[in-house]
Amino acid sequence: CGVFGIFGHPEASNLGYLGLYALQHRGQEGCGIVSSDGSRLHAHRGMGLVADVFRDEEIFNRLPGRSAIGHVRYSTAGGKDFKNVQPIMVDYLRGSIAVAHNGNLVNAQEIRNELELAGSIFSTTSDTEVIVHLLARAQSDSLPDRVSEVLQMVRGAYSLVFLTETRLVAVRDPNGFRPLVLGRLDGAYVVASESCAFDLIEAEFIREIEPGEMIVVDKDGMKSYHVFGKVNPTPCIFEHIYFARPDSIVFGRQVYGVRKEFGRMLAREYAVDADVVIPIPDSGVPAAIGYAEESGLPFQLGLIRNHYVGRTFIEPQQSIRHFGVKIKLNPVREVIEGKRVVVIDDSIVRGTTARKIIKMIRAAGAREIHMRISSPPTSFPCYYGIDTPTRKELISSSHTVEEINRYITSDTLGYLSREGMRNAVGEPGGTKGGHFCDACFSGFYPVKFPRLKADSQLG
Ligand code: 5GP
Ligand code: SF4
Ligand code: MG
Repeated sequence: CGVFGIFGHPEASNLGYLGLYALQHRGQEGCGIVSSDGSRLHAHRGMGLVADVFRDEEIFNRLPGRSAIGHVRYSTAGGKDFKNVQPIMVDYLRGSIAVAHNGNLVNAQEIRNELELAGSIFSTTSDTEVIVHLLARAQSDSLPDRVSEVLQMVRGAYSLVFLTETRLVAVRDPNGFRPLVLGRLDGAYVVASESCAFDLIEAEFIREIEPGEMIVVDKDGMKSYHVFGKVNPTPCIFEHIYFARPDSIVFGRQVYGVRKEFGRMLAREYAVDADVVIPIPDSGVPAAIGYAEESGLPFQLGLIRNHYVGRTFIEPQQSIRHFGVKIKLNPVREVIEGKRVVVIDDSIVRGTTARKIIKMIRAAGAREIHMRISSPPTSFPCYYGIDTPTRKELISSSHTVEEINRYITSDTLGYLSREGMRNAVGEPGGTKGGHFCDACFSGFYPVKFPRLKADSQLG
C-alpha cells in the first residue's frame, strides 16, 4: 500500500490526490482521501485506480480543509473488498480519527479475538481496524500518548498516517519495514510512502521518518517523538528489488541506482556468452541496464509492454494472471531472432510469468535464452506487508534452481546470491544502523508471528 498526508495547505485534498497518483504503483485495488476542515472530517473512498475513484472535480468540494490523508490499497490481510478501502474513519468519545496504513500487523488477529470476546464489533476484515479500536480504548490524555500506548500493543510492519480534526500524526514501526518520508510545501508539512510523491507536487524532501519515530503536526508546528526504547531497524530489501518506484529515495538511496547495482552484481556472478540483454519490463529494466553495462553486452528492448494493463501480480485471481502476461507483453522479433538472449527480471514468485515469457521469446526465434534474476530465490512468504503467496505456491520453496530452469524452459537460470544482493544494496544509509530484512529469501524473520494464524491470513 501507499500512504500520504498533508497538514496546513489550502489545497490539501487536491494535493493528496496527486500524491496518491504518484504512489499508484503501491496498490491499485482501491483508494481514498480523508480531509479535515478543522472541526470535521470528510471522506471519499472507492474501489479502483486513483484517477477513476476521483473522477469528478466536484468530489474535491466535498473534501474541504487544510489537511488530508490518503491511501492506495493492495491487500495483504483482509481481502479485496470495498469495506476494507482506507483511510478508515471513525467517531469515538474524543472526536473523529482517520488512519491509513502500509504494512501488516502480525498480532492483529490475536488482538481482534480479545476485543471481540470483550464485545467489540468490527466493520472490516482488515488488520488496520484493530488500531482504531485500541485507540478508542486508550487511557492517556494527549493524542501522541494515546497513539504511543496503542503502538506498544501491536507488532509487525506499519507506516501509519492519522488525521484528527486538528492534527496529523505519522509513525513508522521500530523495525522500519516500510518507507515513510517527510517533506515541506509552501509552509505545509507533507508525508508520503515514497519521495516520488513529493516530486510530483513539488514538495521539498526533508528526510526519512526514522524507524520508531512518531511525528505530530498541528497548528503550532511539528514535534518528533521516539516512542520505542530500543530501535533495531530491519527495512524491507524488497522495496529496493521490486516494490518502490526507481525514482524514489528509499532508506537513504535512490532505488534506480540500487537496482542497477543488483544487475551489475548478477553479471559478475552469472556471466554468459550471449548477444543481447533484454529486461522484462518494467520491473527488470534498471537491473538489465546494470547487467549490460557490466557485461559489455548490448541492452535492447526485446519485449514491449502495454502500459494500459495493471501490474499482473496485484490481481490475485489465477485466471487473470495467466491472461495478464500475454495481454501485457509482446516480443520484438528483430531484437530476438537468431540471438543468444539474456533475459532479466527482478524475481520469480510462482514461475508462471517467466515460463510464459520464455515461450514467447522462443517463438520469436531466440537461439538461446539465459534467464537472470536480480534477487535470490523467493522461498518464504512475507508477513510484513508484501503480498507473497503461501509457501506451497512459491516455486523456489520446493524446487531447486535446476528444476525451476527446466520448468520455465530457459537454457540457463541464475539468481543473484544473498551476499551479492546485500553487498549491492549496502546497509541502509537513511535508516540509522539498520540491517535489511530479507526474510522472503533467507527465512530469517526479524519479528516473530503466530505461524498458523499468519498463514491463514495470506493468499
Ligand atoms: P510469477 O509469475 O513468478 O508469480 O511472477 C513474477 C513476476 O511478478 C515478476 O516479474 C515480478 O516483477 C512480479 N511481481 C509483481 N508483484 C510482485 C510481488 O509483490 N512480489 C514479487 N516477488 N514479484 C512481484
Ligand atoms: Fe520485505 Fe521480504 Fe522482509 Fe517482507 S520478508 S519485509 S518482502 S524483505
Ligand atoms: Mg515484473
